[in-house]
Amino acid sequence: MKKIQMVDLVSQYTKIKDVVDPSIQEILESAAFINGPKVHQFQKNLEDYLNVKHVIPCANGTDALQIAMMGLGLKPGEEVITADFTFAATVEVIALLQLTPVLVDVDPVTFNIDVAAIEKAITPKTKAIVPVHLFGLAANMDEIMALAEKHNLYVIEDNAQGIGASYTHGDGSKTKTGVIGHVASTSFFPSKNLGCYGDGGAIFTNDDDLAHTIRGIVNHGMYKRYHHDVVGVNSRLDSIQAAVLDAKLPHLDDYNNARRNAARKYTEAFKNHPKIVTPSGRRSCDGICDTCDCHVFHQYTLNLIDVDRDALVAHLQEKNIPCGVYYPIPLHKQKAYEDDRYNEADFEVTNALVKSVISLPMHTELDDEQIAHITSTVINFIDNN
Ligand SMILES: *Cc1c(COP(=O)(O)O)cnc(C)c1O
Repeated sequence: MKKIQMVDLVSQYTKIKDVVDPSIQEILESAAFINGPKVHQFQKNLEDYLNVKHVIPCANGTDALQIAMMGLGLKPGEEVITADFTFAATVEVIALLQLTPVLVDVDPVTFNIDVAAIEKAITPKTKAIVPVHLFGLAANMDEIMALAEKHNLYVIEDNAQGIGASYTHGDGSKTKTGVIGHVASTSFFPSKNLGCYGDGGAIFTNDDDLAHTIRGIVNHGMYKRYHHDVVGVNSRLDSIQAAVLDAKLPHLDDYNNARRNAARKYTEAFKNHPKIVTPSGRRSCDGICDTCDCHVFHQYTLNLIDVDRDALVAHLQEKNIPCGVYYPIPLHKQKAYEDDRYNEADFEVTNALVKSVISLPMHTELDDEQIAHITSTVINFIDNN
């Protein structure tokens, strides 16, 4: 059996090497390292893929979030609501901009931000909501957009884990994640569903004015050379990364399908196990159906019932099966983000999930033998402990 890895980027690269290598070589020989034609080409191709008017490439997914918030003109002291159960980047940039992060609980089935909890947290200072399409599953966007409209709030989608997923609206129409809110951010970190070979990120929006503002912000606040109209940052996607991404973009749907296929096999194996809750999709979808792509499985995450999760993690490690715990600590309990306003009773779901979730190897190159070995090892441990 091929060695099991949490993410197997080498096998994926080997299959596209013939396209990627000459594309990188071309950048080396043209020396157009920054703002070269490849960056523009990738930007256009991603705009077409997502069906969005503006993609603004930048240096990483964390910058993308920060720049989106800067572009919206959010002011110190204003409140931004986001999920307690996510990667820290989301709350970090809110705090860096001297905005007030307001963390709220998530839904126990989808792991996505709980809309009722958002509504409860809204105050006159609230200016924006940041839903995260966690683990690749679209957040509850219809309800979030309706709530935002009612309270006049911006919605910034953190699409770092959800690129390529579609959200099915109540009327049956579909939109790609990242194109539903006012603005969205994504990350091209190597292990993300569309990853480059270093750091990269992008901001998406259909708003022409906001796109213009953001294009200046990523470039030192310059709209005309050496005229700095606003305080900006230096955040660029370099041409080599754009070349890699442009070579990979045509494969994104296949990559996400490969992830969904692996998820389907995992879920088949764990189905009906009384102690294993498999990932869910949205709108009564199981996340693995053929017709809807609400889930692109950035992670395949189980919720365990009455299982010593940490003992299972140790057992898998001993058996050379990598796994992950995303995330082991709720953000509201992180030292940097503690706040007296928080009440433990409001974080019941997150406080439980951090002790019961486990993410299994998930990437585009998993084979049946590996999946069978992983699932039987997990089930054997749970049934015998
Ligand atoms: C990866 C990630 C980010 C940050 O992206 P970087 O490119 O690593 O800066 C932000 N939010 C979420 C949910 C992520 O998973």
